[in-house]
This record gives sequence, structure tokens and C-alpha cells, in this order.
Amino acid sequence: MFKLAKKYLGDFKKELIVGPAAKLTEAIFELIVPLIMADIIDVGINGGAGKTYIYLMGALGLCCALVCQYLASRASQGVGTVVRNDLFRHISSLSHAELDRFGTPSLITRVTNDVNQVQSAVAMLIRLVVRAPVIGAAVMAMTIDLKLSLVFLAVMPLVAAVLYFIMFRSVPLYRVIQKKLDKISLITRESLSGARVIRAFSGEAAEEKRFREANDDFADTSMRVGRLSALLNPLTYAIMNLAIAAIVWFGGFRVDSGALTQGQVIAFVNYMTQISLALVVVANLVVLFTKAAASSARINEVFETEPSIKDGAGAAVSAKAPVIEFKDVSFSYSEGGDNALENITFSVQKGETVGIIGGTGSGKSTLVSLIPRFYDAENGCVIINGADVKSYGLKELRQKIGFVPQKAMLFSGTIAENLRWGNENASDEQLQKAAETAQAKEFIDKMPDGFNTHINQGGRNLSGGQKQRLTIARALTGSPEILILDDSASALDFATDAALRKAIAKDTQNMTVLIVSQRATSIRHADKIIVLDDGEAAGIGTHAELLESCPVYREIVMSQESKGGESNG
Ligand code: ADP
Ligand code: MG
Repeated sequence: MFKLAKKYLGDFKKELIVGPAAKLTEAIFELIVPLIMADIIDVGINGGAGKTYIYLMGALGLCCALVCQYLASRASQGVGTVVRNDLFRHISSLSHAELDRFGTPSLITRVTNDVNQVQSAVAMLIRLVVRAPVIGAAVMAMTIDLKLSLVFLAVMPLVAAVLYFIMFRSVPLYRVIQKKLDKISLITRESLSGARVIRAFSGEAAEEKRFREANDDFADTSMRVGRLSALLNPLTYAIMNLAIAAIVWFGGFRVDSGALTQGQVIAFVNYMTQISLALVVVANLVVLFTKAAASSARINEVFETEPSIKDGAGAAVSAKAPVIEFKDVSFSYSEGGDNALENITFSVQKGETVGIIGGTGSGKSTLVSLIPRFYDAENGCVIINGADVKSYGLKELRQKIGFVPQKAMLFSGTIAENLRWGNENASDEQLQKAAETAQAKEFIDKMPDGFNTHINQGGRNLSGGQKQRLTIARALTGSPEILILDDSASALDFATDAALRKAIAKDTQNMTVLIVSQRATSIRHADKIIVLDDGEAAGIGTHAELLESCPVYREIVMSQESKGGESNG
């Protein structure tokens, strides 16, 4: 909490000083009120300084309250905005490995809910911290009558004990609550983005149950904390009211003996009320800050996570070297877990087309994701143009590569805007050309607005095959040196798939192309085929060579042929 405060509160010094100062002035005015009251009771309203004071106090108090409120909002909204921006930027810089570790739902809760908690703590810090003139009220009471103020001394430790007990019990629970909120956001996200699948499998009831359970669990813990913090106000009030009763009781004797006036006893009671109100404020602050502490720990956790994949110092590129080389590459998603890739070695020359085939989960996507450094190889090295991928600047490396991910992902905007992700300066002709090669031009031209047709978020107004072809066109727009198609033709019919491969071969003579596929027909004409089986290379060679030498490949081909070429993944 302090780290975050140090970093972000510095920019709001003015608000942080002037705001509480205004509040303090208001509090001081309030401190004098009981004395005036005593004066009015004992002397009468026209006798003492009463009237002027009451007007002055009203006007100034109002001004102070307004100033403080305004500055508090400014500072808290400001801090919230800056933290959210920084957090978002930091999350964007993280590598896939770190993102996998946090999980998207948790990151979303951190950027939204956790930042909100911190934001309201800042507002309260400014508005309420000096709204607690406990000491002032106690001192004022002492100046009236030292003996009677012993009551205050007796009461304070009791209240402190109550505050401590509640804080001690509720802080750990707030951490748990934020975690449970993550879970709810995970389930919400999953069931919203998977709504079609859930409906197709009539899984609504199960999903509702899952959500209800997570929600109940969250509610249970919140109730436990709620019950704890609900104790706070009644307990402090009870203690304070007992103290007031004691003051009236003992005060009575003091008035009888002539040591105090009746007005002074009322002033005493007033101070006691001020103290109890202040303590309740403090107690609520304590609750708010414990929440904010839990949240800022979660925010800090993200800030303290360094991206594991960083820019390299500079690549010594060699024109003669193979375009892609894997040297004894092994990789696992979790430390000490099963290897998703094991001892992969191969090289690809410029302009070659390489097919990568294997069953689901055999490591095809993993293999190609090491090339743009979505992940780093654990052992061995991945080399592009003779230089280790780790030596490139990330932007430089990724510009060489046109990557078409397995899951077609488009953004809301026009088709042209989406294609220009590949190259923001691409001319209309370049877009046309890329769309033509990707076999997308035909359906784009049929759309009412052509390239200016609007795509909904996630490309929901397009078919699976259309989305795939657009993502291929997007990659081609950047005229990459290396084109990677990760099962990108899976939703295309065989004829379109064949036309696509033919067009890519014809239009991109110098491009090195990696085609990942589960269909043997899609890759049989490749210059080189890598057969993956459970993370290992079961065979590398041409179609004819592999049919001879690689049983795994033979089995894939035979199983697909026997089904009349209809089978695919
Ligand atoms: P393919 O593309 O051949 O279907 P993948 O490369 O996607 O296979 O997956 C290879 C293995 O790695 C599988 O066992 C899969 O469960 C695992 N895997 C893939 N992605 C991740 C990830 N982000 N975190 C952990 N394990 C993963
Ligand atoms: Mg895959």
C-alpha cells in the first residue's frame, strides 16, 4: 500500500494538503461549538459571543467542507485514472507466460474493482482523516474539568481494543474476498464468451449452478466480514453511551458541589458525542483501508511482475544462414512440468514451404509460437536469419513474421482497418492483393460496403471460414518474410483450402511459409514436413520420404484417406 501511495500520491500534493487542511479548519470550528453551547445555557443567547460565532461558523464551515470535498474527488479520480492507465500499460508489456499465470479474469478485476477500492480510500483519506478530532475534543474536555475527563481515559483503551480486534479478523478475509471475485469474473467471462457452446450442449443449468455456487461462496465470506464490521458501530456507540451516562452521573455531583455549571456538563456530553462520532469515522476508515490494502497488494503484484520476454540487444543477421533454425529445442509451459516440445531440430531455407502435422496436443501451436517469441524455449535455441530470436528487438522480430493464430481474432472496425493491423500504411491495392491471395476478395466484394464493411467485436458477423481468410489477409498485408499459418484453413472447404495454398505459393515466391495442419492433404506438397507426436519430432522429410520411413505419418495419411479425405481436425 505504501509503495503504491508513494508512487502515485506525489502528483496530488496540493489536494492532499489543502483538502485535509480545510477539513481540519471545519473540525476546529466544531470543537468550539460545545463551549458556545455552554455559554448560551449558562448566560443566555444574547449574553455571550454566541450569535456572531454561530453565523461565522456556519459560513466558514460550509466553505471548508465544499473545498475539501472537491479536492478529495479530484485527487481520488486522478489517482484512479493514472493507476488504471499504468496498470493497463504494464499488463500489455507482460509476456504470455505471465498472462497465463494471472489469468485474464483476475487481471480484469485488478484493473477495475481493485483500483476502485484504492480510489475510494484516497477520497476518504482526504475527507475523513482529520474529521477525527478525538484528541482535540479530549483536550477541550480536560480544560473544562480534569477529574470528569478521567472517564475519557477509561474509555479509550476499550475502544482501541474493539478496533484492533475487528481489523485483525477482517484483513485476511478481504484478500479472500477479492480472490473470490476473480472466480466470479472468470465464470462470467467463460459463460458469456462460450454462450453458444453452452446452449448447444444445453449446459445452461450447469453453468447457472457453477455461477450460483461461486456467488454464494463470495456472499458467505462477504457476510462474515460484514458481520464483523457491523459489530464496529454498535460496540463503539455502546461504550460511548455508557461513558456519557457516567459523565451525566458524576457531572451531577460536580454541579451539586459547585465545581461545574450545568452548561459545562452539557459541553462535556457534547465532546463525548464528538469523540464517539470521530471514533466511528476512524473505525470506518480502518475498514476501508484494510480493503484498500488488500487491493493495492494485488495491484502491486502485477506491477512487480517483470515481463520475462524482453528486447534483445541487436541481431547479427546473416543472409546466407537458413531463415529458421531450431536447435535441440525443448519447452514446457510450467516449470518442472511435462515438456510440450522435446529436442526439436530442423532448419528451413528461404522460400521453402514447411508443413507441420500431428494430432491435437502434439505441440504444433507451441512450436510455431516460439518463433515470434510468444514464449522462450527452455533449452536449445530458435534462430532466425542466423541470429538467436532473443537477440532481436521484439518489434523488429515480429515485423518479419506474419502470424495467423489458430483462433481467428478480429477487432471491431472495418475490414480495411483490420487488415491494416499488418501494415498501417498499406495502400488500397496492397489490401486488395492480400485479400485476393487469402481467398477473401470474393466475399468482401459481395458485401454491401466492400472493404469498408463494419466487423462486430470478435468478428461475430462473419463465418468461421471468412474470419480465417481475413486473418490470413491481415498477415499478408505486412508482406512478412515468414508466414505462419496455425491451422488457419481448418474452417475452409477443401477447394478453398487448395486454392489458398496455390495462391500463397504463387504470390509469395520469397516468403518462407509454415503451414500447421491436421489434414495431410494441406501439407503433402510442402518442401518439408515435420511430424509431431507428443512433443517430439517423429519424422522430418518430404511426403514420399515420410510415407516410407515414418509410421506416425503413414498412419495419419492412411486414416484420412480411408475416410475419403473427409476427415479433418
Ligand atoms: P497442438 O497445437 O498440436 O494441438 P499445442 O501446442 O496447443 O498442441 O499444445 C501442446 C501441449 O501443451 C498440450 O498438451 C497442451 O495442453 C499444452 N498447452 C498448450 N498451451 C498451453 C498453455 N498456455 N499453458 C499450459 N499448457 C499448454
Ligand atoms: Mg494448435
